[in-house]
Formats: sequence, C-alpha cells, structure tokens
Amino acid sequence: DSFETAGLRKYVLDNILKSKYTKPTPIQKHAIPIITEGRDLMGCAQTGSGKTAAFLLPIINILLQDPRELVVGPSGCAQPQVVIVSPTRELTLQIFNEARKFAHGSVLKIAVAYGGTAVRHQGDSIARGCHILVATPGRLHDFVDRNRVSFESVRFVVLDEADRMLDMGFMPSVEKMMEHPNMAPKNDRQTLMFSATFPEDIQHLAARFLNNYLFVAV
Ligand code: AMP
Repeated sequence: DSFETAGLRKYVLDNILKSKYTKPTPIQKHAIPIITEGRDLMGCAQTGSGKTAAFLLPIINILLQDPRELVVGPSGCAQPQVVIVSPTRELTLQIFNEARKFAHGSVLKIAVAYGGTAVRHQGDSIARGCHILVATPGRLHDFVDRNRVSFESVRFVVLDEADRMLDMGFMPSVEKMMEHPNMAPKNDRQTLMFSATFPEDIQHLAARFLNNYLFVAV
C-alpha cells in the first residue's frame, strides 16, 4: 500500500511527502482509485480516518491533470469547479487548510466561506476566483443568493459528514444547492458523500444525489 501506486502525479506525491504521510489509511486506499476513475462514492468513515485527504488528493490530482479555465463571471461571481460542504466552521477550516497544503505551489485557488464572521474578507477571496470552495451550507447560500458564487462550472461536489449536516438541520440548504438550476446534473459532475453512519435517510440522499455510486465503509 503506497501513495505511489494510487495513480497520483508526482506533484501531488511531493506534497504528500511534505505532510509526512507515509502510507494511505484504509479509506484513502479504497477511495483514491474510485475517485480517480471518475466514479461517484458513498464513503462511511469517521473523523480521524483520513477521509479529508481521501477526497482532496484525487480531486486535486484531476484538477491538475485535466485543467479547465478558471472562470469569474460578471461583477465578480466566482464559478468554483469543486464545492465542498461540511457542517461546522471548524471542519470547514480544517478541510480548507488541508486543501491549501496539498495544492501548495500549484495554480489552484482555494477559498473558504463559513458563518459567524464578516462576509467581506471571504467575499474578496472568492471574487478573485477559486477552483475549490470549502463552505458551510448557510454561508454558501448567502454568496449564491448575492450572485457571488454560481454552480455552473462545478465538476465535483463533496458532502462531508452528511449525517451531522442532517442532524444540524442543513439538509434543506444542501438540497437547495444540489437542485439549484445552475448545478450540473448528477451525470455531468462527480459527487462524493461521506458520513460516519449510513441510516435510511442518508441512503435516500445517496440515491438522490449520487450517480451509480460505489460504497466504501471502513
Ligand atoms: P481526517 O479524518 O481527514 O480528519 O484526518 C485525521 C488526521 O489524520 C488529520 O490530522 C490528517 O492530517 C491525518 N492524516 C490523514 N491521512 C494520513 C496518512 N495517510 N498518514 C498520516 N496521517 C494522516
């Protein structure tokens, strides 16, 4: 088991080495090839399993391997290619920091949006354009409703800690994003959902949002 055999380019491997990760965790070992192949994924994994790197590494790899032009619409409306939503500010910041670490030194621009802090600073960074936007659901919609973010260039959607988002009442926001008129339909995007548990309501969400997905539980 090594990151070398997981099909990641040298650039990404170098940043993994700098993070001192020597071998993939079980969720990384299974999820990285599935995401690299372009499949949708439902991953059951706890915090601490290394699930963040399990989705960030292959996504960053694909963005660098098959780059698309970064688009900023009229009046600074960002069109992220990857939207990652998570339930809390703490988790959102953790994902953001990990993404910056793995994409360090590349052309990729990464922005963050969470509630409880002024919109202005986050908005300036988003308005410069971002490949990857990491956000909490409520703050994401603040930006969408103000025409600061649109979903038309989305290639990847990641729903992290879906069970916690459900418990915290964020599902209407998540549904609003997934069913947004600008959002690519599920066969034109890659959708990855992670959850610590897989009860019936999460199974229903997976069936609705994911396309012919593979299931991995660790
Ligand atoms: P996560 O489950 O994504 O919150 O990750 C838990 C912690 O494990 C984070 O501090 C990561 O930086 C770390 N981590 C993730 N993958 C690896 C790995 N392959 N080797 C060592 N540490 C890792």
